[in-house]
Amino acid sequence: MKLPAFEYACPATVAEAVTLLASRDEAKLLAGGQSLVPMMAFRIASPSLLVDLRKLSELRRIDITKDGVRLGAMVRWRDIEDDARLDTAHPLLKAAIAHVAHYQIRNRGTVGGSVAHADPAAEMPGVAVACEAEIAVVGTAGSRVIRADDFFIAPLVTALAADEIIVDIRLPAWPAQRRFGFQEFSRRRGDFAMAAAVVFYDVDDAGKARNAHIGAIGVGDRPVRLTAAEAEVNGKLVDLAVAERACAAASAAVNPQDDIHASGAYRKSLIGTMVERALMSACAQH
Ligand SMILES: Cc1cc2nc3c(=O)[nH]c(=O)nc-3n(C[C@H](O)[C@H](O)[C@H](O)COP(=O)(O)OP(=O)(O)OC[C@H]3O[C@@H](n4cnc5c(N)ncnc54)[C@H](O)[C@@H]3O)c2cc1C
Repeated sequence: MKLPAFEYACPATVAEAVTLLASRDEAKLLAGGQSLVPMMAFRIASPSLLVDLRKLSELRRIDITKDGVRLGAMVRWRDIEDDARLDTAHPLLKAAIAHVAHYQIRNRGTVGGSVAHADPAAEMPGVAVACEAEIAVVGTAGSRVIRADDFFIAPLVTALAADEIIVDIRLPAWPAQRRFGFQEFSRRRGDFAMAAAVVFYDVDDAGKARNAHIGAIGVGDRPVRLTAAEAEVNGKLVDLAVAERACAAASAAVNPQDDIHASGAYRKSLIGTMVERALMSACAQH
């Protein structure tokens, strides 16, 4: 399908990109085009100006420090897959990103585009919320940092102002002994999740779980933390009985709607199973 007509700009600096984005109401940023271009083809979006971020190489860095992992907004799924440092610096991120789309899309799609697009079934927003990531943005009023939990508001709706650009996504540091699991169910490999669970916890000297974080993807209008399921894990030696109780708590905590892919009741049951499997794979790690 042909795209609607648009003007095109390819700025060399973030400041220039912000100025262009603020220059008219119908301007939109172009990252990998993997969500925006299909939306334009279907006339769901008709921007009059596309501001292409591809020359902004400073947004394509992956920085790893003692504070955590900083993913520039233009980092592509493929960059994450190829970065061996992330095997230890953030193995959960790597495990989750392996489920994103297909090879061709992973070569172009970006973390900033995914976070800005805010699909409730997308992996990166779910990882960001579960890991308490921060999203750094810059606009005409200056820079600010938004907690992931405050960033995602509804499907395709975020806390970003119209003139703001995401510059990076900051994931807190990952301790070496942390246990984690990522489980996703989709109809075909690379499809968006019908439901997915993000799980991690630390272990105290007695082998008991603490600092449990359990996130759900695809079962609501935004990614969420499942605090009732986390409470079933904290202070426990994680085993099948604990995982089953967390499974029940996870199912009880969500109320997904029926849609063309599945009934709400099916997804409600599915997220419990994903949490249970993720916990079992986490506790089998050491
Ligand atoms: C067939 C298919 C299957 C897919 N499957 C999956 C999947 O399983 N899981 C998944 O997570 N995704 C999936 N995707 C989406 C894919 O991951 C995209 O990479 C992702 O949605 C972001 O796209 P993009 O980086 O190309 O951004 P674009 O399409 O260029 O932009 C998306 C939106 O983000 C805005 N934007 C882009 N960059 C910024 C920025 N730095 N600051 C502010 N706003 C910005 C744009 O203006 C636009 O509104 C799939 C896509 C396709 C076509």
